[in-house]
Amino acid sequence: MIIFDHGYSSEVDGKGTRLIFYLKGCNFRCNWCGAPESISPQPETLRYTNRTVTAGSCVTTQWVIDKALRSRAMIDGVTFGGGEPTLQADDLSTILKVLQENNIHTAMESNASTDAYREVTIYVDQLFSDLKTLSPELFAARINPDTNLLTKTLQNLQFAALNHPDLTIRVPVISQLNDSEAEQQKIADFLSKLKKSGGRFKVELLRQHHIAEPKYQALNRIYPCKDHNLPDEQNMENFKNILIKYQLEVI
Ligand code: SF4
Repeated sequence: MIIFDHGYSSEVDGKGTRLIFYLKGCNFRCNWCGAPESISPQPETLRYTNRTVTAGSCVTTQWVIDKALRSRAMIDGVTFGGGEPTLQADDLSTILKVLQENNIHTAMESNASTDAYREVTIYVDQLFSDLKTLSPELFAARINPDTNLLTKTLQNLQFAALNHPDLTIRVPVISQLNDSEAEQQKIADFLSKLKKSGGRFKVELLRQHHIAEPKYQALNRIYPCKDHNLPDEQNMENFKNILIKYQLEVI
């Protein structure tokens, strides 16, 4: 398995204190990505003015399991993020099964676009999955030219809403992607239909930030969203109110 980071976090990546592993490699290319070093499956070097950081190391499934078992007294569970963790589904499922057998709470953060997503979620107690846009043209321009991935994402979200006991659908609110009332209304309509068809989930809105800009420079890449104005608090509030009108549970 290849990871680009691991550490401890609290509440935002699952319930309680988490040990989190960030798996390297992603099939999306979100041009606002907050972890640009996560996208390539190959190790990469980030060159800052005063230090150099290597992102990407190969670890065994046993190394991850041992680390989780050794940490269990300090944590409430283990989370896998990325990148897109289900691209390493075989290793990930192996680890998740062992953690569940040892009564360790598991969580995963996924873009929900892969074939392996459904089989991995069986071993996940708390699931976070993204919904970024419903518009194929925006998906192609900002995320990946292959819009079949959008179709797959929506199908997988429907599957998870109907079958997973603890699903949070995360909507990153991104400038010129889904910060217009029209796009937000489309997302609200989709989620409302999902709920009416029997889906169970919470919705979490995440505001875009520019924190990752130095990473793009350190990777010698251009940060495409440099000049975008971030969605403001009022925009977040308006979006939340649209969702609440449909009786959706919003975080
Ligand atoms: S899905 Fe997440 S990790 Fe992958 S490119 Fe998009 S923001 Fe980055």
